[in-house]
Amino acid sequence: MNNTADVVVAGGGVMGCSILYNLASMGMRQALLLESGTLAGGSTGRSMAILRMHYSNEVTARMAWESLAVFRHFEEVTGGPSGYVRTGYLLVAQPEYGRALRENVAMQQRVGVDTAVVDADGMVPMASGWFTFSEGEACAYEPESGYADPYLVATGYARKAQEMGAAVRTGTPVGSIEVEDGKVAGVVTGDGRVATRTVVVATGVWSQPMLAALGVDVPLECVRHQVVTLRRPSEALPDHPTIGDVVNGLSARPDSAGLTLVGVGEEPVPSPDGYNQGVDWIAMEDSTKRLVARMPRLAGAYYRGGWSGLFDVTPDWHPVLGRVEGIEGLYLAVGFSGHGFKLSPMVGQTMAELIVKGETTIDVSILGLDRFRTGNLMRSKYPLAVLA
Ligand SMILES: Cc1cc2nc3c(=O)[nH]c(=O)nc-3n(C[C@H](O)[C@H](O)[C@H](O)COP(=O)(O)OP(=O)(O)OC[C@H]3O[C@@H](n4cnc5c(N)ncnc54)[C@H](O)[C@@H]3O)c2cc1C
Repeated sequence: MNNTADVVVAGGGVMGCSILYNLASMGMRQALLLESGTLAGGSTGRSMAILRMHYSNEVTARMAWESLAVFRHFEEVTGGPSGYVRTGYLLVAQPEYGRALRENVAMQQRVGVDTAVVDADGMVPMASGWFTFSEGEACAYEPESGYADPYLVATGYARKAQEMGAAVRTGTPVGSIEVEDGKVAGVVTGDGRVATRTVVVATGVWSQPMLAALGVDVPLECVRHQVVTLRRPSEALPDHPTIGDVVNGLSARPDSAGLTLVGVGEEPVPSPDGYNQGVDWIAMEDSTKRLVARMPRLAGAYYRGGWSGLFDVTPDWHPVLGRVEGIEGLYLAVGFSGHGFKLSPMVGQTMAELIVKGETTIDVSILGLDRFRTGNLMRSKYPLAVLA
């Protein structure tokens, strides 16, 4: 292994891989990614990978929208597909969130997002009889949204970065980060030490101990999220848009093999290692019942299994992006709180810009670690926190 690097990226999920690619494309070819296991083997590989733009804050709406353009043109960027499938995305909220939803849509339209407030008579998906609604429920629709393939995206970024001269080492955990005189000096791995002046921590739910050892306190909680898969009755419901259902506390999207993926639950777990990676029977029954009430043509769908994964949740369910004050050369891209995949292209670009140029196209300063000290937290307008 090379024992020096311009930048070391710790973590080979979609964030680390996107950061590495963006560093390399900005000319930083001596960048090295260290991954303890396999690329996309953490939260990334378990993601539902929904790409929606509906956010309560401009910074994330912008990042999601600009990231969507990258997912759509991923082959031109990396030479491989992202697996982007356009399904449209419907957000449904209780009547009392109607005003919040309209404000969010107006903000997103200012950003340039293709989105609109819709009602049951006014949009194609509803007119097609996919969904049923209760009186007064508020809806927004984004025709361009959908999903992509998180494994293809992470590995596509990594492969392209390597073609440009960057290096990737899997099976190589970063044991510790060395700091001398307030500056990053290197990282220590099982394969030896790598001298570097710059480290980006993108190790998801595993980030805390490594940072705590440096006296950097990042408030992160591990939260288990379940993904139930249902086989759709193919004649009654060959396809459907993706839905974020605040009323029922779930999200659901189709896949190309006739399944519907349903994301439910926010259960804190004590450790990222050794949690229940399966699906609870009760979650399957309950979420299916609620989804069938929303999508009656799903009645007759049958359970095909599922999995669980972990969110790295911050107190305000927003990521931490930026430099660590007091340790020169240390950067964080953590705390994506269950909604990071859709942001990953712009996370990579933003982190690389910060490191290479010192300034960013999208101002992410409100996502700095400092906000947990100052109390200047981000706010979502909905009770379904992952919608952020
Ligand atoms: C079930 C589920 C559904 C989701 N659905 C969506 C969705 O629909 N849309 C969306 O936008 N987002 C979604 N997300 C969130 C999204 O997947 C994550 O925000 C994103 O994948 C986080 O990527 P990451 O690179 O930060 O973390 P990870 O993918 O967890 O990557 C971190 C990597 O660091 C490695 N690592 C750990 N310790 C070390 C070390 N010491 N040294 C080196 N490497 C180390 C790990 O092995 C891991 O590969 C979902 C997440 C889950 C779990």
